Amino acid sequence: MKITDVRVILTCPGRNYLFAKVMTDEPGLYGVGEGTLNGSEPIVAEALRHIAPLLIGRDPQQIEDLWHLVYRQGYWRGGPIFTSALAAIDIALWDIKGKQAGLPVYQLLGGKARDGVMCYSHAGGRDPVETEDHARHLMAEGFKVVRCQVGPYGGEGVIGERPPISPGTPAEQVYEPTPYLLGAPKLFAHLRDKLGMEIELFHDAHEQLAPIEAARLVKEMEPYRLFFLEDPLMPEHRESWPLLRAVSTTPLAIGEIFTSRWECLPLFMNRWIDFIRMKPLHVGGLTEARKIMILAEPFNVRSAFHGAADIGPVAQAASIALQSVIPNFGVQEWTRFPAPAYEVVSGICEMRRGYAYPNERPGLGVDFDEEKAARYPYQRAYMPLVRRADGSMHVY
Ligand code: MG
Repeated sequence: MKITDVRVILTCPGRNYLFAKVMTDEPGLYGVGEGTLNGSEPIVAEALRHIAPLLIGRDPQQIEDLWHLVYRQGYWRGGPIFTSALAAIDIALWDIKGKQAGLPVYQLLGGKARDGVMCYSHAGGRDPVETEDHARHLMAEGFKVVRCQVGPYGGEGVIGERPPISPGTPAEQVYEPTPYLLGAPKLFAHLRDKLGMEIELFHDAHEQLAPIEAARLVKEMEPYRLFFLEDPLMPEHRESWPLLRAVSTTPLAIGEIFTSRWECLPLFMNRWIDFIRMKPLHVGGLTEARKIMILAEPFNVRSAFHGAADIGPVAQAASIALQSVIPNFGVQEWTRFPAPAYEVVSGICEMRRGYAYPNERPGLGVDFDEEKAARYPYQRAYMPLVRRADGSMHVY
């Protein structure tokens, strides 16, 4: 069997997605992959177009060898652009292998270790009462784990916004750490008072704190028994994890912008974190994500794979397949897709009472219609910038 083409599809059915289709010389046999990188999709698309000629004529069954070929082809290894492009290829190759074997990808990875993949969803509001109402709503839907934020602008410590500098660019958010550091513990005092101690609640600090501020937050959150505190530090402050560990037993999570095992490994080996938030989409696909979870296992690090607006339905299917199988599973961030995405993509994973279920069809069981995707052309979009109240960039 040979790869005959790598098709690159940029589409915006309500949100931008970058899909890939690895075509083979066997009639009707192809694999679907995804390389969506929120705010940077056209750059990954170009990386894929650049890499594609290296794959034409090669055997799509040799996933491990092709992974290393794509990872090492450029000498300039790694980084989110290349690892997202690599993920698009790798996920498509696993899809091909599943279709060829007549088995769902989760079977190729070892078979189901759980009935369903427990997911969390996001509760937010302008004040703690609104967040509580939202959390109750999600609990009634069946969610066993809920991320809780508060604030008038979506609850991430953002206190205002500045208008876009030019049309087509996003408004800039205004963030101050003091109101955030005072508000987050108050939110959880309210939630635990109203919702009790049993429901699994957690919070995302969005990598916006200085290490000493993060240490204060993990300490103050301790009485509220968080499932974990997400992103108390930005990845660059790796050497400050011991400070957080020293002051609190609040479980810690990071990794949504990690792109390889090399960022994960020191956190595992030093036992600095409890949950790893990387996912197949941005670490080079299922091949690497599976290895990272094996590396995590002896260090009692569990998965909390990233989702939110940063993945599309093909990457979600890859995450759910792997999360169905791994022994050190923690939770999956659930992503709801815009309605037009269901028009373009078929076989999207189902959510029932807080659990996601992999598709039972051979491969990943998802597919997209290129003609329908073309009806939703890519819309240029950027990630938001964060400034302080005085107008300076938020540098921490
Ligand atoms: Mg986060």
